[in-house]
Amino acid sequence: MLDKNITIAIDGPAGAGKSTIAKKIAEDLSVEYVDTGAMYRALTLKVLRLGVNPLSANDVINVLKNTSIDFKGNHIYLDDIQVDEKIRDTIINKNVSFVAQIKEVREGMVKIQQELARTKSIVMDGRDIGTVVLPNADFKFFLTASVEERANRRYKELLEKGEKGISYEQVKFDIENRDRIDSTREIAPLVESKDAHRIDTTNKTIDQSVEEVISIVRGR
Ligand code: C5P
Repeated sequence: MLDKNITIAIDGPAGAGKSTIAKKIAEDLSVEYVDTGAMYRALTLKVLRLGVNPLSANDVINVLKNTSIDFKGNHIYLDDIQVDEKIRDTIINKNVSFVAQIKEVREGMVKIQQELARTKSIVMDGRDIGTVVLPNADFKFFLTASVEERANRRYKELLEKGEKGISYEQVKFDIENRDRIDSTREIAPLVESKDAHRIDTTNKTIDQSVEEVISIVRGR
């Protein structure tokens, strides 16, 4: 437990271990966890379900206007329906970065995220948390890992989920593509905040990375 409200921002590329590590930190510190990627994923799910082109900003903005995205507990709800699993499909991985580069989409999401962090302790992960959403966060971490390791983790996850017809090469290609779009977009690109603690998780277990974060937060 902590004796005052704290905010912890965790950023990094796809597959660096952010959400697994952020969830464990939140549990260990008994604070709330917010997965901001899940919000962009939920909107992308709706866009694709409606047959809207994710590259058509105006159409995506119209979808956003008629969409509700909420967290209840650690679950994500799209228009009041829980979509934890659906937002992890490969088709979402391939399209989410297009939706997330739209200015109005980011403005809407950032507003919700800042409100969530306003009155309570929080661990939030994403791409722009330490730089844009919570620039005054008490602690900032930038998690990274080699692209081979990140692709390997994602590939294993997809196999465990029973996805058929995927290859390691395709997963690696998709990750590199997503990183490229996320890092080069005009608004709130994925960049390492100067004041973030960098943790390379390539050769670390999840517990080792969690321990590293916790010891910094607890000042050990
Ligand atoms: O973290 P996750 O891989 O679930 O994020 C999915 C996508 O959502 C990212 O690739 C990125 O395009 C977008 N995203 C973002 N800003 C955030 C979190 C996620 O642009 N804060």
